[in-house]
Amino acid sequence: MRIDLHTHSSVSDGTETPAQLVRTAAAAGLDVVALTDHDTTGGWAAAAEARPAGLTVVPGMELSCRWFGPDQPPTSVHLLAYLFDPDAPALSAERARLRDERLGRGERIVEALAADGHPVVWAEIVEASAGGVVGRPHIARALVRAGVVESVDAAFASLLSHRSPYYVSKADTDVLQGIALVRAAGGVPVFAHGLATKRGRVVGDDAIAAMAAAGLLGLEVDHPDHSEEERRHLRGLAAELGLLVTGSSDYHGTNKTTPIAACTTDPEQFEALLAAADRQCAVPRLTGSVQALSRWAPTRS
Ligand code: AMP
Ligand code: FE
Ligand code: FE
Ligand code: ZN
Repeated sequence: MRIDLHTHSSVSDGTETPAQLVRTAAAAGLDVVALTDHDTTGGWAAAAEARPAGLTVVPGMELSCRWFGPDQPPTSVHLLAYLFDPDAPALSAERARLRDERLGRGERIVEALAADGHPVVWAEIVEASAGGVVGRPHIARALVRAGVVESVDAAFASLLSHRSPYYVSKADTDVLQGIALVRAAGGVPVFAHGLATKRGRVVGDDAIAAMAAAGLLGLEVDHPDHSEEERRHLRGLAAELGLLVTGSSDYHGTNKTTPIAACTTDPEQFEALLAAADRQCAVPRLTGSVQALSRWAPTRS
């Protein structure tokens, strides 16, 4: 069993449509792939519809959050959520707020770039996103199209870096509230790339313990942005805190150089994730992982 629990489609900042993405997953030899677009479930239906025979598609999302610790400035953290009710009102409203926040923030970044003579136009970026949830990768692609930088990576290393004067943060969800929202929607919350120091400041063990106390159920340990030492540390924490452990590629199509299935999840851990979804199921129509996955997975005997 090969399992990748973190991928993005063009419904957020990946480059493949959900239908293309599930085909890419099958072609790469995956048995299970989770679609985890930023702050949206907008790709779920198309992914389920296009699911190749033999592939299990896990409906998920990556929620933009922040940790507000007592002794550090607010820290950006990403929360993966799996198998939650997409109609749960509170989580649905929070996703909508985050998407709106992204639009305002993206526009501010682009306006500042344009004011300094970089030939990027917000309306064009929104149009090129084709209704997808806008993020810095969309601005990066515009900078590539305009010939300002050579690649999306180069844009992230310069003008769009979190250290750049053009960087604007967004008012993301307090991660403890995010965990509560996911749990209330019957989902399984997993802390994404928690020690990815190359992305910026990361939280300490105290924050992860507080997240576990608030209902976090897993840690994404094997991730392309984690060093061996970071993985070892997170694996130890997961054991200490009784959290499940996942691995995934965080595939973004051609917006990143990472291939799909670059990191994968242990099948036993995936079973534990399904069991967790069953156990805490707040929503009757998502009861039972097999039932929840019936539109998404091959029929199990
Ligand atoms: P945003 O959510 O708008 O702050 O943009 C961050 C997104 O950009 C995350 O989803 C990252 O996965 C993605 N990202 C970060 N670094 C890079 C990079 N070097 N190339 C492409 N995408 C990146
Ligand atoms: Fe992304
Ligand atoms: Fe992320
Ligand atoms: Zn991601």
